[in-house]
Amino acid sequence: MPVSASALRDIFGAAFTTDPAECLAYGYDNSRRQAQPDAVVFPTAHEQVVELVRACRATHTPLVARGRGTNTTGATVPEAGGVIASFERMNRIVRIDVDDRLAVVEPGVLNGDLQTALAAHGFFWPPDPTSSPYCTVGGNLACNAAGPRAVKYGSCRENTLGLRAVAGTGEEFRCGVNTTKGAVGYDLTRLLIGAEGTLAIITEATLKLTPKPAAKTTLSASYTDVAAATAAVTRIMAQPVVPCALEFMDGEALRLARAHAGAVIPNAGALLIVETDGEPSDLPHAIAALAIAARGAGLIELHTAADAHEAETLWAARRALSPALRTISNDKINEDVVVPVSRLPELIDALRGIVKKHAIPIVNFGHAGNGNIHVNLLPRDAAELARAQTALPEVFRGVIALGGTLSGEHGIGLAKRDFLADALDPAALALMRRIKTQFDPDGILNPGKLLPPA
Ligand SMILES: Cc1cc2nc3c(=O)[nH]c(=O)nc-3n(C[C@H](O)[C@H](O)[C@H](O)COP(=O)(O)OP(=O)(O)OC[C@H]3O[C@@H](n4cnc5c(N)ncnc54)[C@H](O)[C@@H]3O)c2cc1C
Repeated sequence: MPVSASALRDIFGAAFTTDPAECLAYGYDNSRRQAQPDAVVFPTAHEQVVELVRACRATHTPLVARGRGTNTTGATVPEAGGVIASFERMNRIVRIDVDDRLAVVEPGVLNGDLQTALAAHGFFWPPDPTSSPYCTVGGNLACNAAGPRAVKYGSCRENTLGLRAVAGTGEEFRCGVNTTKGAVGYDLTRLLIGAEGTLAIITEATLKLTPKPAAKTTLSASYTDVAAATAAVTRIMAQPVVPCALEFMDGEALRLARAHAGAVIPNAGALLIVETDGEPSDLPHAIAALAIAARGAGLIELHTAADAHEAETLWAARRALSPALRTISNDKINEDVVVPVSRLPELIDALRGIVKKHAIPIVNFGHAGNGNIHVNLLPRDAAELARAQTALPEVFRGVIALGGTLSGEHGIGLAKRDFLADALDPAALALMRRIKTQFDPDGILNPGKLLPPA
């Protein structure tokens, strides 16, 4: 291994391993890809990360930051070997400052633990991936993760004020602000968010907090078919009351959800979960506005959840969908494409055409208010897997033709890297490559991820 065990011992004491059996456990992620790292280190302080990056740069050793490996794109798989920096022990909430509505955290804090700590102060941090109990804030930032709430509150990029980080050059820096406004220089904070650990390693984040709304109401709207539901999404997003969640499930997703949650999930062609939050006195007006927009051709039933328990049952069924897909296919291909909401009906039509042509099962659900649909191709045998892989570029081309993009929240990693050139302006891609060179001239940080080979 280029960076020596004795150099790692100098930085981390006993908090590292080169034991191949222990390293094996850090070489995979939720993409189910696997590669063997040479060493795994467990930083607990910013200074250790600075020394680590410098040692890796001096020896041209690949260095991959890792939260909890829940990403779906192979973004933490150390294809080129080298060192995995697992942030599981750098997990302190440094400060919660309610007066200035911010929290300062280390990258290994679990999203769910942060939300619990913030709730005690009456606040939350909006990014809410379904994996919240198991994924880290560092991983969230590096993927620009989000969830149902993004339709109203935004993703990591809209909810992060500043970062402390170490570039691939070994330079340490702070960027961003502690204030809710700032117009000073290039926005390095937003650049690092979504960079998948390819530009710099994040060692601290200053997060923007939002007060917890006092009340919430959940509606479910069932439709005869997908076209009716997606047309309703467009109507809902075209009126002034922004829901705090607008989720979509197609008929096949509903069948799976019913198996999990029973009769609370209707037997229909498609379903929308529409949620609104705010002051209790404002909710009746918001619900009325959303209900008017949800009504239209193809509506079967519009139902208001009677209480928090009924709403939670609906959400639990929605959350169970992703794991439930494994009961159909061990090789599911889970994409998270995005199109402008007005193009959702065309997207669903195009997907129908593609799956019919290639004869593969497909289940669609997702964050319809953002036009972000999880397209799940579900091959059940080798022949279907080969056909699904042929279909995938057609899915991406269809999305791009509709003015959409490849990923809304999961990122690029290895899985979508080779499609990036189709999604980006060539001049923009060339600028990205030059930015990468500025931050990481020797290409040690998460090599092979996000940018396609030149
Ligand atoms: C059941 C399930 C449901 C999910 N639902 C959602 C969802 O609703 N929305 C969503 O957005 N995602 C979802 N995901 C995907 C995943 O949970 C997110 O991408 C999450 O942000 C990854 O966090 P992690 O801690 O596991 O990061 P990892 O997977 O370990 O790493 C992800 C990326 O972050 C980089 N990274 C990690 N730490 C740092 C650091 N300190 N500095 C720089 N780079 C770093 C890694 O190098 C890698 O590129 C889901 C995953 C699962 C398994």
